[in-house]
Amino acid sequence: MGIKRPYTVTKPLEVVEADLAEPGSDEILVKILAAGVCHSDLSVINGDRPRSLPVALGHEAVGEVVKTGQGSSDLKVGQRVSMVFVPSCGHCGCCAEGRPALCEPGLEHNTNGSLLSGAKRISINGEIINHHLGISCFSDYAVCHRRSLVPIEDDLSPTVQAVFGCAVLTGCGAILNTAKLHAGERVAIIGLGGVGLSALLGARAGGARQIIAIDANPAKEALARELGADNFVNAGDPDAAEQVKMLSAEGVHLAAEFAGVMPALELAIEVTRRGGRTVTAALPNPSDRLSVAAARLVTEERTLMGSYVGSCVPSRDIPNFIALHKKGLLPVERMISHTLELTEINTAVERLAEGNTVRQIVCFG
Ligand SMILES: [Zn+2]
Ligand SMILES: [Zn+2]
Repeated sequence: MGIKRPYTVTKPLEVVEADLAEPGSDEILVKILAAGVCHSDLSVINGDRPRSLPVALGHEAVGEVVKTGQGSSDLKVGQRVSMVFVPSCGHCGCCAEGRPALCEPGLEHNTNGSLLSGAKRISINGEIINHHLGISCFSDYAVCHRRSLVPIEDDLSPTVQAVFGCAVLTGCGAILNTAKLHAGERVAIIGLGGVGLSALLGARAGGARQIIAIDANPAKEALARELGADNFVNAGDPDAAEQVKMLSAEGVHLAAEFAGVMPALELAIEVTRRGGRTVTAALPNPSDRLSVAAARLVTEERTLMGSYVGSCVPSRDIPNFIALHKKGLLPVERMISHTLELTEINTAVERLAEGNTVRQIVCFG
């Protein structure tokens, strides 16, 4: 954590043989089929999201059930599963209110580097290795809690299915669940990584009248337009906010921010029209503070909302989003910029840090 770039040289991740303990009660041994490299993995490496070390990274994947722990399980051997990076206990206050993304024990165990059961199943010569968000999928096999897994059909390529666990859940969910897009609204999407582009696809599927894509990297324009953006604005332009207001008449109904830096969130608030909603699903550094003219929240009836795991119920929304993909409404495969082998993981992390990639998928044999 905090090691200098380039990661191709400093190699923050090491590919090693580790011991995986047998799955306990309510735990499942999963063979990983494909895993996405997400910005939240990079955030652990660059120190924005500090975790206890050593940790086995990776939190967006699909796999196949190899073995279930003691007792009976509804999951059978061979079942394709999508992994969810916040396990939900089903019993706490937030789970009871139908908001599993906010599960309290889920957060506690993710912070501890343990599974929802409290167990840590990875070790090397007796030294315990922390789990990452209950998943640790940059590996051939993982032991996960049942409540970190959602069964899905096996009729699509795992490479494509991998992105539903984090990018699609977070991006589409922010637009469709958290901000509840209404058909005909004008939308701005700020930060065009895997999550931002998923949000763009979600806005299109949800019937946005206009989608303005915004990023500091002009190389993102072509793909954004291909995926359905009507306009592109360079976030680095000093008059970026003015450009968006001009393009959208008086600002957008819904501005969604996925860049994780304060100027991007401020821009999102600025381009939101009076009465509109600003939603953020990025993870800025915990020390970052936001300054907003509080009176505008009142006199302009502005709504500022945070979105975690896209306010999703994963067991409902992952199959739903996959179904929309099959109907051609969420062409997520076009976000996949690279496929690679696990041994190339540091190259993938460096590429992500450079900002010139969208979704890279590690494929397992
Ligand atoms: Zn992620
Ligand atoms: Zn819970």
